[in-house]
Amino acid sequence: MLSKEKLRKKYINNRKKQYFETKENCFKPLINFITRKQIKKISLYYPSNYEFDTLKLFQILKKRDRTKTLLPIILKNNSMKFVSWKFSDPLMVNKFGFLEPEINRKKIIPDLILVPIVAFDKFKNRLGYGKGYYDRILRKYVLKNPKIITIGLAFSFQKYKKIPTSKFDVKLNYIFTEKGLY
Ligand code: ADP
Ligand code: MG
Repeated sequence: MLSKEKLRKKYINNRKKQYFETKENCFKPLINFITRKQIKKISLYYPSNYEFDTLKLFQILKKRDRTKTLLPIILKNNSMKFVSWKFSDPLMVNKFGFLEPEINRKKIIPDLILVPIVAFDKFKNRLGYGKGYYDRILRKYVLKNPKIITIGLAFSFQKYKKIPTSKFDVKLNYIFTEKGLY
């Protein structure tokens, strides 16, 4: 089994090589899920570094008044908060060079969290960038409120046989890839 660090390098590199543009209709199973579960507040991420593209999803959801879209903001103490962000609202550059909404927007707790992924396995374990931001926020939100649903977004080629885990790693409820929702 490869270490988290080795896996990260390998899978980030691999994603760059195998990246492809996602078609709008690939999001259908996810939209159906959002409708069926009557999701009102969904947090996404703004794609960078060959991450699975979420911009089309923001565009689709913008047309639906019943679902609010949110983006994470990194706070000073290395925690995160989610705030409202609609496709084409302004964005700022944070200390990591990532785009995020204006800091003073009010905190909103999502009922569905879409999580970016470097690699995943069939047990729905997730490997991230190695900073543990999502592990911390999921621990805070999901363990307190198990009704909050988590879905990892990734290309199907990001699957690995078994992701090494620590006691801080929070498993996801579902994985969504271009092949569907699992
Ligand atoms: P990632 O989830 O981004 O792939 P890791 O799982 O390797 O990253 O976690 C990165 C670091 O954050 C690790 O040192 C881990 O122990 C720490 N960490 C994660 N969640 C928590 C938590 N809830 N409390 C304290 N430290 C945490
Ligand atoms: Mg982790």
